[in-house]
Amino acid sequence: MTEFSHRVEQVSISGIREVFEAAGEDAINLGLGQPDFPTPDHARQGAIDAIRAGKADGYTSNKGTVTLREAISEKHDRDNDLDVDPEDIIATSGGSEALHLVMEAHVDEGDEVIFPDPGFVSYDALTHLAGGEPKPVPLREDLTLDPATVEEAITDDTALFVVNSPANPTGAVQSPEDMREFARIADEHDVLCLSDEVYEHIVFEGEHRSPMEFTEEDNVVVVNACSKTYSMTGWRLGWVTGATDRIERMLRVHQYAQACASAPAQYAAEAALTGPQDPVAEMLAAFEQRRDVVLDGFEDMGLECPTPKGAFYAMPKVPGGWVEEVIDRGVVVVPGDAFGEHGAGYARISYATGMDELKEAIEIMDAATQAVR
Ligand code: PLP
Repeated sequence: MTEFSHRVEQVSISGIREVFEAAGEDAINLGLGQPDFPTPDHARQGAIDAIRAGKADGYTSNKGTVTLREAISEKHDRDNDLDVDPEDIIATSGGSEALHLVMEAHVDEGDEVIFPDPGFVSYDALTHLAGGEPKPVPLREDLTLDPATVEEAITDDTALFVVNSPANPTGAVQSPEDMREFARIADEHDVLCLSDEVYEHIVFEGEHRSPMEFTEEDNVVVVNACSKTYSMTGWRLGWVTGATDRIERMLRVHQYAQACASAPAQYAAEAALTGPQDPVAEMLAAFEQRRDVVLDGFEDMGLECPTPKGAFYAMPKVPGGWVEEVIDRGVVVVPGDAFGEHGAGYARISYATGMDELKEAIEIMDAATQAVR
């Protein structure tokens, strides 16, 4: 009889899939966490050119091509005012692998990992897979993470805490003051701050700052990806940036589990990062319009919804039975408790969907709201 590892037995397949399966084929899908825009042409061309030139056939350096890591380093300079050595970056298979590397390299059996609840589903699962103890912490009323809550949760067993801004599933954006506090907490308690910045460029109000900007010490690692910024979820290209010794440890995992990120994707990412950034601005403008339509819709329905300042999600408070009723009527939304126990009583709506479908979905949600009241 096969015995599976106790670590893998503690993880289940994400509940989000079940929601898709419960909805009919013609359902309007507000459950997806990926932009509905094409990958910019110049990014695609970067891969095509590399493939035609025969540059993408073999393994690259384990960390990724030098030119991609230089492009990422320039991006950190341009967007985050950070001076990062390209040697302190590993190109990964999406932000997901980058999160995995951070956990594997820093979490020991029994170590605690603090993360937001509701929060992105991978934090809990990757903590278990690394043998750690998940320590989800609740959010403020506006669905941001209070640095004081994180600081209170830290014990001698804490390996790291996760900050995710803009956030999935809430759309919340942390203030620069909060980010400064997270950096201070990491330094003062000598625990690692994992800053998941995959939605960095999707900010409508406020500004994105990285905790890494606020410290001279090495207690922050940044995870980012091309997935959301450049609508490249299928390409699987992300990265992790951190201090030299942390990168060296993460490389040990990456080297044996992955060898290197996909070479064609690395060339596409390099082109995305170094080429014109207008597609990002166009996508942002579209998301903001949709966000406003969604917020107006919830207001008309009488549902309370903290204003999402970034990403492409909204998280209204919903009455009992609402999610089931909405799904029955053909709109896929995700129950808030799929993201942690404090997500109960909320639903996550992704507005990475065309405006016409979104408006139709709002009418259906309105009718469902009246039906369950
Ligand atoms: N971090 C957050 C907060 C996300 O929402 C996601 C994807 O949904 C990821 C990381 C992983 O992104 P990727 O597709 O690059 O693996």
